[in-house]
Amino acid sequence: MGKTGHQTVGVALSVISAAYLHYLHFGLLPIGASCIAAFYGSTAPDWLEIAHAEKMHDGSYRRASVIPHRTITHWAVAWVAFLVWALFSLPNPNPDHTLWLNAIFHTAALGFAMGGISHLLCDIPNPTGVPILMPTSRHRLSLRLWRSGSGIEWLEVTAFWMVGVASWMVH
Ligand SMILES: [Zn+2]
Repeated sequence: MGKTGHQTVGVALSVISAAYLHYLHFGLLPIGASCIAAFYGSTAPDWLEIAHAEKMHDGSYRRASVIPHRTITHWAVAWVAFLVWALFSLPNPNPDHTLWLNAIFHTAALGFAMGGISHLLCDIPNPTGVPILMPTSRHRLSLRLWRSGSGIEWLEVTAFWMVGVASWMVH
């Protein structure tokens, strides 16, 4: 999936994380932090690769990155472990019991992890896939459903948005 698609899904993840944290009675600041982090988390596996355009001998440009594309930054085990840690380390939502900076740190971590997971879910149907067990290109798994940029990806985006709406209806 391309950047715009990931960002559109990222907004849906902001909505979902906000619904969950609101349900837990977190205040506006921790919820806001989570929303911003979910948006940046949804593109994180790509921007963490630190990519730039590299000029080739024939004058054309291609994408080059410090970390090889779709390896360690797209590693499912790391993102799932991060999400589980973020979920279980959430502090008491009552401001009388928790420093607000601590609450913001943890809710932002949760939003970021949720955004990152959404990125992997959007990349895994593409032929390249994402690494699951080990963070190398040899361990990539692909559902081989459609190519990145295919029109079907808008159905995927819509599905995330439906979950976003549902998360506010059920909580
Ligand atoms: Zn990606």
